[in-house]
Amino acid sequence: MDVLLDGKKLAESMQSELAERVAARLKAGKTPPGLATVLVGSDPASQVYVRTKRRTCEKLGMTSTHYDLPPTVSQSELLALIAKLNADSSVHGILVQLPLPSHIEESAVIRAIDPRKDVDAFHPENLGLLAAGHPRFKPCTPAGVIELLVRNDIDPAGQDVVIVGRSNIVGKPLALLLAQKWPGGNATVTIAHTRTRDLAAHTRRADIVIAAAGQAGCITADMVKAGAVVVDVGTNRGPDGKLVGDVDFAGVAPKVRAISPVPGGVGPMTITMLMFNTLLAAG
Ligand code: NDP
Repeated sequence: MDVLLDGKKLAESMQSELAERVAARLKAGKTPPGLATVLVGSDPASQVYVRTKRRTCEKLGMTSTHYDLPPTVSQSELLALIAKLNADSSVHGILVQLPLPSHIEESAVIRAIDPRKDVDAFHPENLGLLAAGHPRFKPCTPAGVIELLVRNDIDPAGQDVVIVGRSNIVGKPLALLLAQKWPGGNATVTIAHTRTRDLAAHTRRADIVIAAAGQAGCITADMVKAGAVVVDVGTNRGPDGKLVGDVDFAGVAPKVRAISPVPGGVGPMTITMLMFNTLLAAG
């Protein structure tokens, strides 16, 4: 492996640029960008994600307001909170941590967020703008993957990219970003999923493999070509409780040109792009 796609290091440098932009904004007499985070229930992984997002906000000089709701909260109570946050001018971005308990319809919650405050870019209006090539916000994880590539001098243009996973959060919007006619795009994209016939045949011919399946170790060395680039979006808990990706790092790394680790790859980039979107939403 020639290049470790070190998201932790890249995120630190991008975050210090963002902190300077926030400081300049405050100096100009504007209000700090404000992010409201909403967590329903007490899933430990979700608690960690929200805590990290809030800490990063504070580190960059942004404000963060947090709402902890019990797992029994009703959908209408959650929608009422979102309506309140939509109307609050000090809140520029609203983040409802997913997943939500099964009695709450996730798509109804996403649709209730004012699209101008939808810093996750999950709202259908924002997904539509992205598909049309005029995104208001770029979805955080997909945008983070592209920054990780481009800022390591890996231009997706003209490359055969295989994305493993087709979720609305990662696979699908990432394919849209990569296929658009703009810098960081212009790739030839294949989206693979559980109904793909012979996944390895697809990944083996790819110049860039992006794993977003949520299956620990599902991308092995025999599935990638020598000199390829591999980005691991997956975050899975191993039997020992440790965070592992979708890629068998030890097996794949010696064979490829560049690879991102888990942890320390896409995760910190996702948070950085969220901060970027919150600053953008503040105007
Ligand atoms: P989902 O479970 O919503 O989607 C997984 C996708 O992968 C589905 O499209 C599924 O196919 C496909 N898939 C699963 N197993 C296989 C397989 N063996 N072969 C081919 N395709 C497969 O997950 P998300 O998209 O939300 O997340 C994916 C991973 O990325 C998770 O590990 C998640 O934790 C992680 N993640 C990490 C983030 C970060 O910041 N680092 C942010 C967001 C997610 P099908 O549609 O047919 O079921």
